[in-house]
Amino acid sequence: MNGPYKPGMLQLHPTTTLWERSLRRGRCYRVIRDFADGDGALHSSGEQWHFVGTAFNRYDDELLIYVAFPDGTEWRVPLTLSDDSQRRVFDNVADYIELVPGLDRPELFDGAICWECNHQLSRDRPEYCPSCGAVWDLVH
Ligand SMILES: [Zn+2]
Repeated sequence: MNGPYKPGMLQLHPTTTLWERSLRRGRCYRVIRDFADGDGALHSSGEQWHFVGTAFNRYDDELLIYVAFPDGTEWRVPLTLSDDSQRRVFDNVADYIELVPGLDRPELFDGAICWECNHQLSRDRPEYCPSCGAVWDLVH
């Protein structure tokens, strides 16, 4: 786990990944099954954060998950996809993370782009891409 970054800094990166089919930026999520990230940091059941975004690091075959913790600090959580246990988190996100309803931070959605075609998305219809009609499959 890498950080903390200044609030808003990670949000500025105009990137996305297929993983964002499952999580919506600005929503609050809770870890429901322990996992270790690519830096060896343990994310224990009960850990809670707002989802800020993702990027893919091709060089290291890593998914970078950007999260904001309740104290306002933002961190980059890497998942190394060549590692079996981290790959399971990537492939089965709903087994590891659940939505915490009612704590949305809609401003974190600004700057979100479609995971399919990179088109800019709107806060008003966050699960609809006006360009390609992509379909979301969000964790509940
Ligand atoms: Zn699209």
